[in-house]
Amino acid sequence: TGAGPEGPGDVLEPEDRARRGTPLLTVRGLHKTFGDNHVLRGIDLEVRRGSVTALIGPSGSGKTTVLRSLNGLAMPDAGTITAAPSRRQVRRGVPDAESPAGEPLTLDFSRKITKQQRFALRDRSAMVFQQHNLFPHRTVLQNVIEGPVQVQRVPRAEATWRATELLERVGLAEKRDAYPHELSGGQQQRVGIVRALALRPELLLFDEPTSALDPELVGEVLAVMKELADEGWTMVVVTHELQFARAVADEVLFLDGGVVVERGNPERMFREPRRERTRQFLHRLL
Ligand code: ADP
Repeated sequence: TGAGPEGPGDVLEPEDRARRGTPLLTVRGLHKTFGDNHVLRGIDLEVRRGSVTALIGPSGSGKTTVLRSLNGLAMPDAGTITAAPSRRQVRRGVPDAESPAGEPLTLDFSRKITKQQRFALRDRSAMVFQQHNLFPHRTVLQNVIEGPVQVQRVPRAEATWRATELLERVGLAEKRDAYPHELSGGQQQRVGIVRALALRPELLLFDEPTSALDPELVGEVLAVMKELADEGWTMVVVTHELQFARAVADEVLFLDGGVVVERGNPERMFREPRRERTRQFLHRLL
């Protein structure tokens, strides 16, 4: 061990590391309506490999809907999401079924989206939810290897080895055979993160991962997220933890009423917001 792809300082897959800084997802003009509630009104967003994007804004502003659109859980009504060729495509070096000519995957939501396109988009990312959603009657290890073994057809021994390494990295190796109810909320959420990492996604999506936790447990989860950011993972985070966004994000998007009111470097935005609405929001919470 030690020299493997999961060794310290070398956690990223080579195909991802080599493309650091290039766009992974490009989102243009996203619109979404639920009934007569027009919740996304033209969202543009670029997610670059190795960057952390934080989505902040009042409740109901559309943050979660944007996040869910990035992995096909929400289906916008208009706009496009373009995804760079996947790691798998690059590794094979040949065009494959998801993109027959080897060009980037483009979902144009004003047209019909095929199941294949939707799965191809989803395949690139893994989501960490507000509630960890662990299976209560399965051990930590069983929860973590479920996706790799059942969905990705990774051999059980390999999945177990990888899961154990990931659990070690978040300080939970000794909880491998425990059941979720035997863990604290913070430990459960760290397992939720490991479960996402075990899928070896190109993009990690976090939907308010600490908002269901008791205040004293928030720090340990944010610490793991900061480590992942430092390791170079590509992350999009919906969060109310403004200090975290300020310290860790490369770009912050402030959403209100389904539009990006302001975006940019968090230091600049938090110090001198350009929009009155941003200023009011930050003042209320900081
Ligand atoms: P945020 O994450 O900023 O709190 P959301 O994206 O969760 O905002 O929600 C934006 C708006 O869309 C809210 O008014 C919410 O009630 C509505 N909404 C979200 N999901 C659904 C859904 N599945 N069905 C109907 N309305 C929804």
